[in-house]
Amino acid sequence: MPALSKSLDRFPSSKIASIFALATRLQEEGRDIVNLSTGEPDFDTDISVRDAAKKAIDEGATRYTALDGTSALKRAVQAKFACDNGLEYELDEIIIDTGAKPLLAHIMLALLDPGDEVIIPTPCWTSHPGAVKFCGAYPVFARTREEDDFKLKGQGLQALIHPKTKLLILNSPSNPTGAVYSENELRELTDVLVEHPDIWIIADDIYEKLLFDGRTFATPAAVEPRLRDRVITVNGVSKCYAMTGWRIGYAGGPRGAMAGVRKVMSQTAGSPPAMSQAAAVAALSGSQDYVAEQVATYQSRRDLVVRALNQAPGLKVAPSEGAFYLFVNCAGILGKETPDGKTIQNSADFVSYLLEDHGVALVPGAAFEADPYFRLSFAASNEALEKGCKRIITGCSSLI
Ligand code: PLP
Repeated sequence: MPALSKSLDRFPSSKIASIFALATRLQEEGRDIVNLSTGEPDFDTDISVRDAAKKAIDEGATRYTALDGTSALKRAVQAKFACDNGLEYELDEIIIDTGAKPLLAHIMLALLDPGDEVIIPTPCWTSHPGAVKFCGAYPVFARTREEDDFKLKGQGLQALIHPKTKLLILNSPSNPTGAVYSENELRELTDVLVEHPDIWIIADDIYEKLLFDGRTFATPAAVEPRLRDRVITVNGVSKCYAMTGWRIGYAGGPRGAMAGVRKVMSQTAGSPPAMSQAAAVAALSGSQDYVAEQVATYQSRRDLVVRALNQAPGLKVAPSEGAFYLFVNCAGILGKETPDGKTIQNSADFVSYLLEDHGVALVPGAAFEADPYFRLSFAASNEALEKGCKRIITGCSSLI
């Protein structure tokens, strides 16, 4: 075979995608697997949104649109940013793409040069450093502590800033910890960033509406208006509107940067699906009541899992503040032996044991640059969660 690109050596495949593929394969082989590894709502997309898409198809929304989205969806995004976040963008400062994941990669391709450094608080979503490495830039991990609710502090940020620092990626609510930065917590960071005018900021707000225990949402461009021309705020409909398969992400940011992103997309992206854009207009502009109902359901599922897992010998977990994940500390499991004599050395060993011997799929902390933890997604039915937790508890109790 002729040689492949050397750039493939710069980054790993997504570890989350490989766990998902393994769990699916085992299921196809007839194994009963409780899959708590996926970051995907188990709710169906709301009927109002599905109806809007069907109507749009019947009215001809079956063709290419403008590369960076329809005016109708840009206007809906503009209104959403203004109303929910107090952020004012002109239409040419808004970009629609085929999901937040490719949009993040397109933004990074527009911002980064090989050799640039990008500060990423960890635990982090696997594709943030993945896309940085793909661009030939380097992730600089800002390790946060469980005692600090996995949040980066001003001092921690300041200590990592360096002449090569080009970008900071923030994600609140966080995948995988569910940490939600309050306005004051963000202000600690924005106060530092104001002093460093050469640093871009990406705010990945994709879990914005999934907040528990009455929390409110804050985003850097709104917390510190002086950063407005350096922040690109990324969002999408996948997580908060149960629309993962529709593939719509969007971003607002300063005109010059967005022109750069559009230029990258002119060579790498097609237009997002026309009918999905019509659906996203309906989601953003329609009633938000069902979103609140889903959040209440997620919160009660979170509580169910926290109660159950804190009974498992060797595990410890605090309730997450948002998103639909729990990041479970499994330090108490390390060094134990499985019934067939394998020593659990890290969360990857533990997660493999739970999948292979107990039929429950989770994601090891290493996928998020943090060990010894694993991520559990509670975007699953109560029945699946109860069954999954029982299996995890049995798995822990069977270790010697
Ligand atoms: N950002 C974060 C933090 C995520 O967890 C995900 C998906 O898991 C995405 C972005 C991607 O979202 P989308 O489905 O819009 O591509």
